[in-house]
Amino acid sequence: MQTHQFDCLIVGAGGAGLMAALHASKGTKTAVLSKLYPTRSHTGAALGGIGAALGNLEEDRWEWHAFDTIKGGDYLTDQDAADILAREAIDAVIDLEHMGLPFDRTEDGKISQRRFGGHTNNETGKPVRRACHAADRTGHMILQTLYQQCIKNNVNFFDEFHVVDLIKNGDRYAGVAAINIDTGELHLFQGKAIIFATGGWGKVWEVTSNAHSLTGDGAAICFRRGVPMEDMEFYQFHPTGLYPTGFLITEAVRGEGGVLLNGRGERFMEKYAPKIKDLASRDVVSRAIYTELKEGNGIKGQRYVHLDVTPATVNRYLAEAGETRRIDEHFIESKLAETVDQGRTYAGVDPVREPMPIQPTAHYAMGGIPTNNDGSVIADAQNTPIPGLYAAGECACVSVHGANRLGTNSLVDLVVFGRRAGIHANDYVKQAEFVPLPPDAGKEIEAELKRIRISSGKTRPAILRARMQTTMMDNVGVFREKPNMEKALDTLRELKESFKKDLTVDDRGSRFNTDVLEAWELGCLLDIAEVTAISALNRQESRGGHARDDFPKRDDVNWLKHTLAHLQPDGQITIDYKPVVILKYQPKERVY
Ligand SMILES: Cc1cc2nc3c(=O)[nH]c(=O)nc-3n(C[C@H](O)[C@H](O)[C@H](O)COP(=O)(O)OP(=O)(O)OC[C@H]3O[C@@H](n4cnc5c(N)ncnc54)[C@H](O)[C@@H]3O)c2cc1C
Repeated sequence: MQTHQFDCLIVGAGGAGLMAALHASKGTKTAVLSKLYPTRSHTGAALGGIGAALGNLEEDRWEWHAFDTIKGGDYLTDQDAADILAREAIDAVIDLEHMGLPFDRTEDGKISQRRFGGHTNNETGKPVRRACHAADRTGHMILQTLYQQCIKNNVNFFDEFHVVDLIKNGDRYAGVAAINIDTGELHLFQGKAIIFATGGWGKVWEVTSNAHSLTGDGAAICFRRGVPMEDMEFYQFHPTGLYPTGFLITEAVRGEGGVLLNGRGERFMEKYAPKIKDLASRDVVSRAIYTELKEGNGIKGQRYVHLDVTPATVNRYLAEAGETRRIDEHFIESKLAETVDQGRTYAGVDPVREPMPIQPTAHYAMGGIPTNNDGSVIADAQNTPIPGLYAAGECACVSVHGANRLGTNSLVDLVVFGRRAGIHANDYVKQAEFVPLPPDAGKEIEAELKRIRISSGKTRPAILRARMQTTMMDNVGVFREKPNMEKALDTLRELKESFKKDLTVDDRGSRFNTDVLEAWELGCLLDIAEVTAISALNRQESRGGHARDDFPKRDDVNWLKHTLAHLQPDGQITIDYKPVVILKYQPKERVY
């Protein structure tokens, strides 16, 4: 096994990993390991915008952004983290602009901003323009900009290196083990600091906006090596996935005036969120769509509703609202270029001329690897930091998104908390020693990968994956209740047994063996699905993205607390709790 040594190791080259790398690498030897070529990371798919209270088009304040984040998170958000996110977002966006990110502009040359769900003027309750954007390719631009900066700053990249284990020596973390996908060889990387920035795990569910690569590797690896998982029951279903693929249609469509219509042609969000209607937070809109479908109000009785951004419809509702603004076809083609392309390519629908068929789609993990505000991974409910271990981005739980993330706040999270993790790791490695790699480093994972490669059971990974995805969609989706979640857990345990005892793969070679790596990723997905279902079954209330039919109300007396799930040596998962940081805002009922 080849061994490498770096002060700082970063696993993942999306927005969070690259931002962390940029700051961690100042005066240190830093490496980024990524299973994808960096600019193919999922951050590149982010469309609509990055939130910051710049106030370029109308009055806005970072305090309003912080409050919207806390309210959007259904008061499970740690309020100190929300303050940091909203305050530092402003500098972070200006920083990106100075690095060369080509934001859209207002007529007087400022960064252009658009509306997004849950972002409001706290005094009037009306939507506010807070989402800074580069057309609807904002994530793509962030990724390209940060990658160029990392190259300029001599960050070392190990592209297409698939990290498969976290190496421990006693109770200290010493490095990671990674497969060079090209050769199939296992490499050991020793690092004083390790930052996980591996993104989310939408592939746990059947209908998802997430790419094939989003399999929760980083979270699963940490969980297996003693790190608890925080608030895993909170998974966001984005209201507007294309029907039937789940491909995401950005909230920016509604931000620019698009409306949701049911099979009766009604703008049904007027019933569920009378004040901000289609721009209510995502959990509220997703539940409204499911309720409409349940009541038989889908389009032609089917399992979808319409998202209509055609000029005729948008202009009618703008006029009704007393707004003077009007849109035309050119406006949609330029401001929502990706969306128009996606509608035409993936649904055979032209969004400029006809409404798009949509359904809720599994989208974003609010929970994950628990960290403090500096990106340090914490070990327990007392917030004890684990020396040298960090996490940032979607795989981490700061917790700034609480029970439900607002649109545009993930990109802010990546740059604000990615930067914090990088700066803190940089300070740490300057005074820390390397933890020695143990003599048997990498042996256990080498044996596991060999087991998968030579396995001779009857079941292909794709079969197990499909069963896991439908089980999770049906039983641990937008609406949940005890018997269904128990059924899901039984199925997941059965699937885990098959994964151990009855697996088979086709490719027995070593070079570019994606068959084996995808099977290994399935193991991660199954672990993540199990801890999600257990955490969801445990939480007996409804809050944000976790809606229980059998406990339909939020219960602040018993459940205003974060879940921490721990994997015990015997494979059992136990749960304890961590208090929510409440500063200025006492929890109250969420009304939009
Ligand atoms: C379609 C879509 C649109 C979105 N639009 C917006 C938006 O407009 N605004 C907003 O705020 N948010 C948006 N989001 C959410 C946001 O894009 C993501 O939450 C965010 O980009 C995640 O960034 P990340 O850096 O944490 O992870 P990612 O960008 O997913 O990167 C993960 C990285 O980890 C690497 N990796 C993973 N596993 C391993 C492993 N085992 N070994 C080595 N490397 C590994 C990958 O190669 C990749 O480089 C959107 C999401 C989707 C799906």
